[in-house]
Amino acid sequence: MNIIHVLDENTANKIAAGEVVERPSSIVKELVENSIDAQSRHIEVEISDGGISFIRITDDGSGMSPADAKLAILRHATSKIRLAEDLSTIHSLGFRGEALPSIAAVSNFSLTTRLHENESLATYVEVAGGITTDIREAGGNVGTTIVVKDLFFNTPARKKFLKTVATEGSYINNILVKLALSYPNIAFKLINNKRLVLSTPGNNELQDALTNLYGQKVAPDILPISYDNTIDNIAISGYLGKPTLLKSNRQWQTIIVNSRVINSRAIGKALDNAYHSLLPKSGYPLAVLNITVRADTIDVNVHPQKSEIKFSDEQKVFRAVYKAVTEVLSAAHTPSQLAASAQLKNINYHHTPSYHESPAIQHSLYASTPVHEAISWQEQPLPLATARTAMEKEEVIYWDTPHVVDTASCDQREPQFTLQPLGQVDDCYIISRGNDGLYIIDQHAAHERILYDKMSQHTDRIPAQQLLVPIFIDCDAAEITIITDYQDTFYNLGFSLELAGPSTMRIFELPSDIPLSEAENSIREILEFIQNMHNPTPQELRHNGLQMAACRAAIKAGEVLNMRQMQALITELCNTNLPYTCPHGRPAMIRFSPHDLDKMFKRTGF
Ligand code: ADP
Ligand code: MG
Repeated sequence: MNIIHVLDENTANKIAAGEVVERPSSIVKELVENSIDAQSRHIEVEISDGGISFIRITDDGSGMSPADAKLAILRHATSKIRLAEDLSTIHSLGFRGEALPSIAAVSNFSLTTRLHENESLATYVEVAGGITTDIREAGGNVGTTIVVKDLFFNTPARKKFLKTVATEGSYINNILVKLALSYPNIAFKLINNKRLVLSTPGNNELQDALTNLYGQKVAPDILPISYDNTIDNIAISGYLGKPTLLKSNRQWQTIIVNSRVINSRAIGKALDNAYHSLLPKSGYPLAVLNITVRADTIDVNVHPQKSEIKFSDEQKVFRAVYKAVTEVLSAAHTPSQLAASAQLKNINYHHTPSYHESPAIQHSLYASTPVHEAISWQEQPLPLATARTAMEKEEVIYWDTPHVVDTASCDQREPQFTLQPLGQVDDCYIISRGNDGLYIIDQHAAHERILYDKMSQHTDRIPAQQLLVPIFIDCDAAEITIITDYQDTFYNLGFSLELAGPSTMRIFELPSDIPLSEAENSIREILEFIQNMHNPTPQELRHNGLQMAACRAAIKAGEVLNMRQMQALITELCNTNLPYTCPHGRPAMIRFSPHDLDKMFKRTGF
């Protein structure tokens, strides 16, 4: 007697559903993709209870004939491909013919569909837990409506894995936002528990879709991206957020490859690396990247929910994204101008900073307001070097260390303001008085900027300190290879290292500003950077190495400073080229003009 048997169709569908139908949002994704493939112009999604009890998708696409409607719910029934070879030139989102039968196997499912041409009636098909219970003619509009009720009613074990109604609802929202961004020519609507929560105009303008989805407030903070490399056959279009517009996760990043929304670690990393020097340590910028590559250079059939694809040359795509994004960000001016996006009128004076806010939120509130002023102030042709000249004249400054006056950068005109420290708050911020308002300086960011500028003046090697007692660090084989390959880079950054055993490196020189306690972490940070970047250029390495060294060597938040130290720090900061931001792009100082103060105290009208 044979012990192997072929599973019946219903069982096979339930098993397939395990892969395709993970949760309500995967159903919405599959069904909306079908509506897109059917050339719909309007797609409406309505859900109740996070999609667990009810999902309805209505489209005005091609619809199906009565015969096709019956076939559509069968396994491996598809109108989109005929042969496996078709996969290499595929332009539709679906191709496996699995979604409808899988969804219908684990829910109470119905489909009403009517073809455009000549049909007066629609076809209605009803399937309960994989068993077809009704097929008949019915009234219905042109297009297709699919209703999915009671998800996982017959597979209770699966139901247990669902999250709360609110979380499942938010997953649906997220996937719909991404689909709507990838098809700005289609008008999308999402109704959640009878409330319209999302809608796009479908006018084929990505910017309009974006502002409808993320709010009009993002409009001034997005930059168009357009890149076309005909040799590599990669084109990129879309929008990038300015570095001030941050989220604490990647939710604001939509990656679309050949019209398909995908997740890609490599592309995410390329974005991270391109923004790296402009962002504070935490936070993910907004990005909608529409990437077009040749269809035969990707494999779309590598993931059960089709949410990942395989590139034949991932490095090439990584580089293109990195290059395209860096070009936009550097063309879009200096970090400060990028940060200048938010308008003062947006300040929420009633906002009480809460320690529960994520760093990203804190940062954006922080950066989005008075930084603007610090920048416009800097943009006046008055170098901050004058501050120092002024203070020297008034003899209020005492240098901690001998200071070489760089006359070339000194402005000889009469100074218009001076900065005088008043005190330190929270062992982190220096409050100062200037002729034109109140200045708040972040001591760590300020010192980072000073050190970074100082170090970057050394075109060859950053000055190093010889260690009396070498430091030993453990490295794995991959790290040792990197250190050996990038020996020169480490040397130029002020490090001298040599192999001291099969998995040990000996450090005998360090950049002179870096404290011993930071030696190992500094090297690890550079290693991590090299590992994360696919073959960084020498400039990128240097920028990152300097940034790291400045950060490690800078005074920290929490260090108590006396007046003299504060004055010296402020004066040196004013002597740098970009005193208003640290090398990571965070604000180093913020100004409140007397007018701002008047507004905050409601002495003037708004
Ligand atoms: P796939 O999308 O992989 O072909 P599905 O199970 O999702 O498989 O759908 C099966 C078939 O049903 C599709 O190939 C398509 O012909 C038809 N179909 C599904 N949804 C729609 C729709 N909204 N409008 C028109 N046809 C549809
Ligand atoms: Mg499909």
